[in-house]
Amino acid sequence: MTNPFEGLLLGDTLQPNAPVGRYTAARLGGAADWLYVARHDEDELMKVIRAAWAADLPVRVIGGGANILVADSGVRGLLVVNRVVGLDALPDGVTLSVAAGTSLTQLCRRCQALGLAGFEWAVAVPGTVGGAVVNNAGAHGGDTAASVVEVRVLEADGVVTYAHADLDYAYRHSALKSRPDRRFVVLSALMRFAPGDPAEIQERMDEYNAHRKRTQPGGASLGSVFKNPPGDFAGRLIEAAGLKGLRVGSAMVSDKHANFIVNDDASGSANDYYRLVRQVQAAVLAHSGVSLETEIEFIGEFGEPHPQSNPGDNLR
Ligand SMILES: Cc1cc2nc3c(=O)[nH]c(=O)nc-3n(C[C@H](O)[C@H](O)[C@H](O)COP(=O)(O)OP(=O)(O)OC[C@H]3O[C@@H](n4cnc5c(N)ncnc54)[C@H](O)[C@@H]3O)c2cc1C
Repeated sequence: MTNPFEGLLLGDTLQPNAPVGRYTAARLGGAADWLYVARHDEDELMKVIRAAWAADLPVRVIGGGANILVADSGVRGLLVVNRVVGLDALPDGVTLSVAAGTSLTQLCRRCQALGLAGFEWAVAVPGTVGGAVVNNAGAHGGDTAASVVEVRVLEADGVVTYAHADLDYAYRHSALKSRPDRRFVVLSALMRFAPGDPAEIQERMDEYNAHRKRTQPGGASLGSVFKNPPGDFAGRLIEAAGLKGLRVGSAMVSDKHANFIVNDDASGSANDYYRLVRQVQAAVLAHSGVSLETEIEFIGEFGEPHPQSNPGDNLR
């Protein structure tokens, strides 16, 4: 295999044929042809991506890997794990410039310390600002879109700034998420919050943390597997179909929260997880007539989708 990154002096941050499971919240997935963990800075990240694009290598950037299932057969081309962090307050005191690799928890805690309200919902949501900007992550009635002013994105032609209005935000959706070309990298976001009382902000964070501990399972999972259909909850529909505890190999529908599928085996298989997702989809369709759409994304090649699965899924 020729090395498109020769001369970039990346040390052990770039590896050929490297397993990616430890970089995903489900702890699943095979090896990437190339794995680059961007820890240094934005300039290095951009050099690596541009080198891969110049060599026509497929590139996928992930943050915390909290919303993606990587196939057992791995990822072709380059997988970038973005860990480039940074957080600067603008002079207005309510706007922050945040590097895409910054974790949501870290941003939430910083907001609390600065007396900025509006991001408490993210206190226990795994992942990075980059992933949240793409997914419009949200919880407890809040979401990422509510704070995004603009987003800096690396594209083939250079760095582009998208205003909030360009991003077509909706429930767990953005214009970036539905882009078929994947030739973009979120570098940073300008996010605006409201002034708030740090003690009250902390109180809400504690409340959300406690709620999560009460209602969601621990261990390896991808959070909510399916989007809530209009006017209903995916978890309620899955539970009503009697699927709590349903298992395919290492993957199990959580007893605690039916919209979570946990991987409870250190040597588990992404294909088990995938097959269970499809079984749940088919069973809910048969039970209630509702076609659940996945919130999680699949990266790499999986088995054939179930014939009754939703064609609008995030399978790519
Ligand atoms: C236990 C648990 C609880 C969860 N609870 C919630 C919740 O309450 N609400 C919620 O909305 N989600 C929840 N999630 C899902 C997840 O936390 C969010 O979707 C989060 O935004 C994913 O961020 P990430 O950095 O891990 O993104 P990843 O999973 O790494 O990537 C998600 C998508 O964004 C793309 N992407 C990531 N970074 C970049 C970048 N810099 N440039 C370009 N593309 C990029 C990826 O290619 C992929 O398409 C939960 C997950 C877990 C495991």
